[in-house]
Amino acid sequence: AKGAAMVTAVAYRLTEQARQIQETLAEFRLSKSQLLEVKKRMRVEIERGLKKDSHQEATSLRCLSQRAQRPFENGDFLALDLGGTNFRVLLVKIRSGKKRSVEMHNKIYAIPIEVMQGTGEELFDHIVHCISDFLDYMGMKSARLPLGFTFSFPCHQTSLDAGILVTWTKGFKATDCEGEDVVELLRDAIKRKEEFELDVVAIVNDTVGTMMTCAYEEPTCEVGLIAGTGSNACYMEEMRNIEIVGGTEGRMCVNMEWGAFGDNGCLDDIRTKYDQAVDENSLNEGKQRYEKMCSGMYLGEIVRQILIDLTKRGFLFRGQISETLKTRGIFETKFLSQIESDRLALLQVRAILQQLGLDSTCDDSIIVKEVCGTVSRRAAQICGAGMAAVVDKIRENRQLEHLDITVGVDGTLYKLHPHFSPIFHQTVKELAPKCDVTFLLSEDGSGKGAALITAVGCRQRELDAQ
Ligand code: BGC
Ligand code: MG
Repeated sequence: AKGAAMVTAVAYRLTEQARQIQETLAEFRLSKSQLLEVKKRMRVEIERGLKKDSHQEATSLRCLSQRAQRPFENGDFLALDLGGTNFRVLLVKIRSGKKRSVEMHNKIYAIPIEVMQGTGEELFDHIVHCISDFLDYMGMKSARLPLGFTFSFPCHQTSLDAGILVTWTKGFKATDCEGEDVVELLRDAIKRKEEFELDVVAIVNDTVGTMMTCAYEEPTCEVGLIAGTGSNACYMEEMRNIEIVGGTEGRMCVNMEWGAFGDNGCLDDIRTKYDQAVDENSLNEGKQRYEKMCSGMYLGEIVRQILIDLTKRGFLFRGQISETLKTRGIFETKFLSQIESDRLALLQVRAILQQLGLDSTCDDSIIVKEVCGTVSRRAAQICGAGMAAVVDKIRENRQLEHLDITVGVDGTLYKLHPHFSPIFHQTVKELAPKCDVTFLLSEDGSGKGAALITAVGCRQRELDAQ
């Protein structure tokens, strides 16, 4: 009888533990009405971002305007892509005419964390050092090429070749850059190097580059989305709705900077204590709150915060919080993607955790997998709710009962994660039923887009000179 009682006690403890874990994860499981609420609030913030008076105050969205036009230009262009998983330098050869083609060569460079978070001068010297290496590698040191700079951070763009950095996001925190024109910072660094000359023609947000790249193939592409290290979207808005820019004719691309959605507290009711912990642990506390719930750089951090809590409560890793678990950034997108892969047996999940330095039992690995799945599902859903707000706004702008539209997409989370994109697509469909949205993966939108926009800039200059 004693043995039976003990078995019952253990079974009770296990079910009680399972119940508590489910209770913890329940906060991340959003209902359709909660998601519709997210969509509604995103819409409100878009409107506020476009209005003159509310734009200045504590709006969530910055809604920065950007020029975007179809290019018809031949030539060789250099492009820089800064702000995603990798820093890259590219050579893009655009050939228009009967047989259009875009040929690209690129090289990936590491940006050490000390450089990302050092002085602005060090950062830009490093960038120029990489360009120099690339030009040597391509044998093009003396070419003086036009350059397009994909700079994936919020910038106030006063012209095609001027962008004042509003604030760093993601892992960057170099000093003396915020409030400065990053094109000037780049030009100064090129001068300091005294090795080659370049003509910096355009600065471009990655969402805009992605949209432009897809629009090059598919003219119905009027939205750009990045679901990668960071999260953001841009779309074509009617000039008459953009109070912050004069003119009422035609459309203009608006870089929403939706990562900042929620910075005014409007998402507080769905943020969990784990989201708050991630925010407190970040380089930019209080900022980019939506991004911190749905982008690659932070999903692993949310998972880690939950795992720490479950371990403290004795539900995981035999109650022992290892040094690994205390390490910021251990769960990169590629690990989360592997852990959630359906083809993976639990034993392989354990092997991945082992690789990360986490000793797990079979039960542990089941829990870890469930935590990852819950966190990435919420990310895909709230990202989908944001997108539903955007496409529905475009539909209403055009007074249409039904809208067919294409969204150009890029980003490691979207491309690598096994469940993010299907859940994201499904959510957009459910929350914006009057829109038929086609998602077009932009292969290398950032690099190619910068070159395409640079081509437009060069052409414009020629026209102006005539
Ligand atoms: C930046 C955006 C960028 C996005 C995706 C965000 O952190 O603020 O400008 O588009 O990341 O790279
Ligand atoms: Mg990128």
